[in-house]
Amino acid sequence: MMTNERIKRLERLLEVIRMVSADLDDFTVLQSIISVAGELTQSEVASILRYNEEDGYLHFIAAPWFHRDSIESVRVPLGESIAGWVFKYGKPLVIQDVKSDKRFYAEVDDAAEFQTRSILAVPLLFNGEPVGVFEAINKTNRSHYNGEDVTILETLASLTALIVRNRSLKEEIVKTKQAAERLEQMKKDFIAISSHELRTPLGLILGHATFLREVIPDENQEHMDVIVQSGAKLKSIIENMSNVDNYQSGAARLRMRKISIVSLIKNVIAKYQEKADAKNVKVRLDAANPNLLLEGDASKIEIIIDNLLANAITFTSTGGHVFVVAEQLPGYIKVSVIDDGIGIAHEELERIFDRFYQVQSHLTRQHGGMGLGLSVAKAMVEMHGGEIWAESIPGKGSRFSFRLPIDPQQVNAAKSVFGS
Ligand code: ADP
Repeated sequence: MMTNERIKRLERLLEVIRMVSADLDDFTVLQSIISVAGELTQSEVASILRYNEEDGYLHFIAAPWFHRDSIESVRVPLGESIAGWVFKYGKPLVIQDVKSDKRFYAEVDDAAEFQTRSILAVPLLFNGEPVGVFEAINKTNRSHYNGEDVTILETLASLTALIVRNRSLKEEIVKTKQAAERLEQMKKDFIAISSHELRTPLGLILGHATFLREVIPDENQEHMDVIVQSGAKLKSIIENMSNVDNYQSGAARLRMRKISIVSLIKNVIAKYQEKADAKNVKVRLDAANPNLLLEGDASKIEIIIDNLLANAITFTSTGGHVFVVAEQLPGYIKVSVIDDGIGIAHEELERIFDRFYQVQSHLTRQHGGMGLGLSVAKAMVEMHGGEIWAESIPGKGSRFSFRLPIDPQQVNAAKSVFGS
């Protein structure tokens, strides 16, 4: 038969278990746990210490309110304390008279102006590993801690260990997030500084090289061509970097006017004609309606088409084909750049729009680049309120498509009425 007393205790434990699974803040739950611990083990006070990996000491994470301020900053050493012993050996410990035990660490009493007589301490174990210590102090009526007290405190300690572990995980998430943000900032700074610093000397190199190409003897022309072409390649990389920087720093602004998408595409195709011819890649424009007009920033839309076309030609082998298709959809103009080149594995498709992302295969690596072109294209599309996406079958080819609203103001108005 269970005594009323035991049923009551079980009920109190159940209340705590419910509290842990409810979505309450850690502080409230831990304070309730220590008050239940004090009550069920008939102790004057109870407290919880957590091991701090950074300094190697135990710190109080829960203590009765009247001690909290005074012991908050106390650090309990593992070497000379009862809590430290329990933490190190992972075993419970009962000491009926702390004065006769040299492990007793008096500084906590001094800080809290308290007098400890007896202690029951159990480890907080998570997966068998100690993460802290739970202590009940001063059994009332000067009686002794017994086996049942140990069981009760161990039960509460396992619940507490879960909370402590959870807290560590949350802290780790915050730290990882901060580290990722720092890295992101470094990336941004790198792009901003390097694109700015490289631009001027490269401009000089290209200017002088172009001049020299005109005046040097024919037998050296080939070398000058390589210099000018490589300089132009470098220039387009730096332009992409500074586009990313402008976009990130909010310096990029749209200069909207009515533009003909087909003539923009034609300009870009003309720019890459030489490169395509050199590889024997046929580039074709397919626009049933040559008068597709939209409201947008011509220079930015040109960058989108430029980067997609450059990739399509780059990643298509000799003898391949590239189609640029422009079509009108209700409210939008859609442009697709289709190639029958090397293609992109399914799992890479989402990431290729990330900054600095390149597919790590020898086929792509040998083309150089910085993995910025698609992220710039995406940023430019999104500035216009459009969308960009890619489809591909490895070995068969890729299709990059984007759609831009014909009248972005209408899209904004619709968004404010219907939400995005
Ligand atoms: P990069 O300037 O280095 O080419 P991008 O952001 O333009 O960087 O492209 C990222 C990666 O996506 C490329 O390195 C390449 O692996 C892949 N990619 C882009 N376009 C194509 C395409 N048309 N066919 C195959 N792979 C492509």
